Amino acid sequence: MSQTASRTRREGEKIAADLLTAVEERNRHEPEFIQAVRGVLRSIQPVLAKREDLREHRIFERLVEPERVIQFRVPWQDDSGEFHVNRGWRVQFSSALGPYKGGLRFHPSVTLSVLKFLGFEQIFKNALTMLPLGGGKGGCDLDPKGLSDHEIMRFCQSFMSELYRHVGADTDVPAGDINVGPREIGYLFGQYKRLGNRFDGVITGKGDGWGGSKLRPEATGYGLSYFAAIMLEDHGDTLEGKRCIVSGAGNVSQYAAKKLIEMDARVIAMSDSSGYIVAEDGLTMDQLEAIMRVKNEQRDSLESFAADDGDVEFHQREKGSDGTSGFWSIETDCAFPCATQNEVGKREARALLDSGVKLIAEGANMPLDAEAMELMRESEVLVGPAKAANAGGVAVSGLEMAQNSQRQHWTREDVDERLKAIMRTIHDRCTDAAETYEVKDTYVDGANIAGFLRVAEAMKAQGLV
Ligand code: NDP
Repeated sequence: MSQTASRTRREGEKIAADLLTAVEERNRHEPEFIQAVRGVLRSIQPVLAKREDLREHRIFERLVEPERVIQFRVPWQDDSGEFHVNRGWRVQFSSALGPYKGGLRFHPSVTLSVLKFLGFEQIFKNALTMLPLGGGKGGCDLDPKGLSDHEIMRFCQSFMSELYRHVGADTDVPAGDINVGPREIGYLFGQYKRLGNRFDGVITGKGDGWGGSKLRPEATGYGLSYFAAIMLEDHGDTLEGKRCIVSGAGNVSQYAAKKLIEMDARVIAMSDSSGYIVAEDGLTMDQLEAIMRVKNEQRDSLESFAADDGDVEFHQREKGSDGTSGFWSIETDCAFPCATQNEVGKREARALLDSGVKLIAEGANMPLDAEAMELMRESEVLVGPAKAANAGGVAVSGLEMAQNSQRQHWTREDVDERLKAIMRTIHDRCTDAAETYEVKDTYVDGANIAGFLRVAEAMKAQGLV
């Protein structure tokens, strides 16, 4: 490395360290948010060193402060008449590129820190799609497990009774996320329509037939598999015959698995909160469809699926541990962590490296914790980071917004072609940025740099707001 290059590198490290210290001091009780900021700063050091103009405009300092955070009470009544109160939020992080856009998550682990990490990541993900989308995220600390349909409906109506004041087709357009699927989107949209007396594109993931886009349910998982295929293609390889493990058994996991099977990869294992299943020869499409029925219609577990299917092994989640250590040790070529944040720590990452993994494509947001990511950086494993690899969902949400505003409904083939093209564009933006800034980690660093630059230029142009 030349003297100038190493001076620039040191400068970048110092600027990033100072910015991180300030974020840590201001957000002491938000570990997930700090983790996400640290990850982005680690990648964009060369940009910060080179671009004095962005430093002068305090772009990063502004970007880490959400434009607005709304917190509200969500009171609701269960079927036996008992009252409950939950806490809801919407984090409107950045509108530099368009209306705030990002999902709603209902899960007991939801805190403001989790939503700020998700919203922050969403800014860069949305920027990478090249669509006019800002970044946001929202949700509630509800545990929906075991609630009846009526309870879910009343909860969604109460949640939207406050949220509707803050969202709109040109302001903030939420979508689904963990535990917010087509059923919840329907109830949320119904209440918004009733309160606002407007049928507009305020929420994406709507049903096909009442404003939804074809392929939106499939988009994140399909996009993830397309992205993995492009990464391999770029390295002279394909998914055909590859042993794949997919964690989670929800929306992203199901459609990632489906597309992998269609592309002749072998899906050896999937997991959920009950444990994990292994099918040594790879799941068949019939088996995957049975899993989808169990998870989506019966709202039951993989344990229950395995009880009816003699051809898969089931491993129960051990009490008092994350119970998935065996899952990450399965011999694998490609791993798709699609359940939740930080599901792969140092131990799981070591197990993955020992298992022979060559590619990891993140379906969940931030599924690799900082230590796991560091181990992968030191290895030869190709890592497709969430903000690039799982951007297919928000991309088709963006296409749903476009169809809603034009009162149009595109065909499945049309949306699929656009999705493939967007995943290819995201891939190429990562590799181009990595080349321009001469960073080692093509996808992780490239995605952060390309996403950051698009938002930063827009913020600079729009002045001090
Ligand atoms: P779902 O609620 O549909 O599925 C989540 C799945 O992960 C469930 O099978 C759940 O198990 C499992 N799970 C959750 N926590 C754990 C855990 N700690 N260990 C093992 N399994 C777990 O959510 P989605 O598929 O929509 O979202 C999954 C991830 O993908 C999230 O990180 C989300 O932010 C991200 N994502 C989602 C997008 C989308 O379009 N839906 C878009 C981009 C990212 P169980 O079924 O037993 O509850």
